[in-house]
Amino acid sequence: MNPVRSLILAAADHDAVRRAVATAPVSRRVVRRFVAGETVAEAIDATAHLVEHGLRVTLDHLGEDTADRRAAERTVQTYLALLDQLHDTGLAVDAEVSVKLSAVGQALSERLALTNASRICAAAEQGGMTVTVDMEDHTTTDSTLRVLAELRRTWPSTGAVLQAYLRRTLDDCHELAGSRVRLCKGAYAEPASVAFTDPHEVDLNYVRCANALLAGGGYPMFATHDPRLVEIVAERARWHGKAPEDFEYQMLYGVRPAEQARLAAEGHVVRVYVPFGEQWYGYLTRRLAERPANAAFFLRSLVSRS
Ligand SMILES: Cc1cc2nc3c(=O)[nH]c(=O)nc-3n(C[C@H](O)[C@H](O)[C@H](O)COP(=O)(O)OP(=O)(O)OC[C@H]3O[C@@H](n4cnc5c(N)ncnc54)[C@H](O)[C@@H]3O)c2cc1C
Repeated sequence: MNPVRSLILAAADHDAVRRAVATAPVSRRVVRRFVAGETVAEAIDATAHLVEHGLRVTLDHLGEDTADRRAAERTVQTYLALLDQLHDTGLAVDAEVSVKLSAVGQALSERLALTNASRICAAAEQGGMTVTVDMEDHTTTDSTLRVLAELRRTWPSTGAVLQAYLRRTLDDCHELAGSRVRLCKGAYAEPASVAFTDPHEVDLNYVRCANALLAGGGYPMFATHDPRLVEIVAERARWHGKAPEDFEYQMLYGVRPAEQARLAAEGHVVRVYVPFGEQWYGYLTRRLAERPANAAFFLRSLVSRS
């Protein structure tokens, strides 16, 4: 892993840093650049704003690695309330939700995660929406794909996520190319035994995987901010005879908003991944670690009162 990224992640794990960041009065403003808020109401407001500007949305309730049934249940309840609100406010047509199985009990049992994810899928379907199952670290890949396959027996449009940094992913792309699949680079620190560690190798694999997904009859969702990959995907999509509505780009809330607007104005489908919830700290530090310029922006805001 990039040393600056490791350093930021290590510092972020430090209790004193965590306390300082979480309680500094200016943090809130900076956090709001990347996190839509702590409540369902704030997530709905952010969604309405993005939809007004021609973007689609996938909402993620922050909170991973739940080893507690009650916490998993609270996560499910929040998703159910969110789906209700999206439906009631007329936003359902442009929205879906992203769910991490670890937040709904995967560490306790795969069956519990399946049951809880099924409840979210059922509510989403009732409101005219779909669910995408986020992919987490490689120790959970097989379990997540098994749960996904079960969910798809009832809700075939449930989205999968595949990570280009994993060596296995090209095979998984061939397997799932006929369905809704989000392709991302991958956000976890993985060993070389299972993942490409050279960023250039990851990019090359992203392109191979993009080709495999575009060649299939499914609906690929290209989650990246990388300008080269955005360009290559557009070119490969044209080569495969895909119309703009046959695939979509996805980017994170607060990351390259001008590019999101540009792609949408060009007629592409662009979906913004909108995280919300009280547990924003881990999410935020991963974003800062990915891009030291974001960390500089954050640190400047911590010391500046303006
Ligand atoms: C919608 C969405 C869903 C995701 N879901 C998952 C998931 O389920 N599982 C998972 O493991 N990961 C997920 N990720 C995270 C993903 O795996 C990457 O960690 C993250 O997107 C960074 O990779 P990147 O493709 O943007 O390229 P990077 O290699 O991080 O960046 C490449 C280039 O993009 C540009 N860029 C990147 N960030 C910025 C910025 N802040 N401002 C300006 N330019 C920038 C720069 O030119 C940079 O050089 C998701 C990402 C997105 C966008």
